[in-house]
Amino acid sequence: MQITCLPIPISSITPRTAPSVSSNHRRVFNFSSLQNPKHSSFFTLAFKSSPTGFKSPVLAVDMGSEEALLDDDDDAFYMRRCVELAKRGTGCTSPNPMVGCVIVKDGEIVGEGFHPKAGQPHAEVFALRDAGDLAENATAYVSLEPCNHYGRTPPCTEALIKAKVKRVVIGMVDPNPIVSSSGITRLTDAGIDVTVGVEEELCKKMNEGFIHRMLTGKPFLALRYSMSVNGCFLDKIGEGASDSGGYYSKLLQEYDAVILSSSLSDELSSISSQEEANVSIQPIQIIIANNAQQSPILASSNMVEDSGPKVVVFTKEDMFAESGTSSSGVETVVLENMNLDSILDYCYRRGLCSVLLDLRGDIKDLEGLLRDGFEQKLLQKIVVEVLPEWCVKDDERRVVSSMNWLESKAVENLQPKQLGGSVLLECYL
Ligand SMILES: [Zn+2]
Repeated sequence: MQITCLPIPISSITPRTAPSVSSNHRRVFNFSSLQNPKHSSFFTLAFKSSPTGFKSPVLAVDMGSEEALLDDDDDAFYMRRCVELAKRGTGCTSPNPMVGCVIVKDGEIVGEGFHPKAGQPHAEVFALRDAGDLAENATAYVSLEPCNHYGRTPPCTEALIKAKVKRVVIGMVDPNPIVSSSGITRLTDAGIDVTVGVEEELCKKMNEGFIHRMLTGKPFLALRYSMSVNGCFLDKIGEGASDSGGYYSKLLQEYDAVILSSSLSDELSSISSQEEANVSIQPIQIIIANNAQQSPILASSNMVEDSGPKVVVFTKEDMFAESGTSSSGVETVVLENMNLDSILDYCYRRGLCSVLLDLRGDIKDLEGLLRDGFEQKLLQKIVVEVLPEWCVKDDERRVVSSMNWLESKAVENLQPKQLGGSVLLECYL
């Protein structure tokens, strides 16, 4: 096996490819020539050979143990458990990411935790508390690089060091510039072995909203609509989709806000992303009131929480003067011109990571925003439900075919999913 050694700075740690399901073990070799003069720690490179002969480089950071025998499958297994735990915070953590942590000692999980909500302790703190003294000399798996700064909670790096864990396995580097590999540096400086990039794609996908917000200063925006098998836009969602466990219900749980046409106001109070009897998570409902004939504030005026109103009506200056409607629990934002950029800026300032633009009801309310989304590249993802229907009605709201202002473009990573009687397609722009 030929091994090339390069002095790699921590900030450019090579991401690992998603591990395959195999029983290959990975040996980590030490090279004293890779000693980092700045951090006085040793970098170790390992190459995992696949059955096809492809060598996948993996970077681990080691403090000079003679030779460690690591198991990729175990690392991937525990990281997937971290992701499972992290997702228990779905819909509740913004502007923070979802994070899960598992403490493993002698092949057994001795502690687990996840970040439940912004302002509450991070996943590592809960997992270390769960493990107690057993955390000493254990391995901590965490889906996101541990924080190294004092925010609303003390840094998790210090908690891991204090607990005397031996090794930390990290799913992905934190895109937050405040963290940005300083957590890894702090841990290696303290003599802890660190491996980065295990099940990285899984960890990134879970927090695509958080990552996008952190890197661009805008919330992640997804478009959702339904269509018939012959490509007509349909103003409906599939049977059972909005029931608990249905895809639409899950989408509402995953996104911090949903943009709706004001013509759906009658449905607002029934929109629910409730997944479990004891958990009620509802996204902020953003109502676009472009039409003075409609009075948008309505069915959900009692929805107000500590974090701010759960219903926000965006309206234009002239229309607000006409209707003047407002009620408690509803915030009305008046814009000179209705545009997506202003709405997303509002969402960013409220700490929202992800927004769903739901094309239902009177599509004319939303057409301008849709256009902004494509033309200004504010849209990242599309979710399409294909219903088992052939549509022959000449419906002027066939938005999919009427967007003649839009240039053709390729989408990426198109993935289908079978949903009972319909098919869900997801792709990225
Ligand atoms: Zn933390």
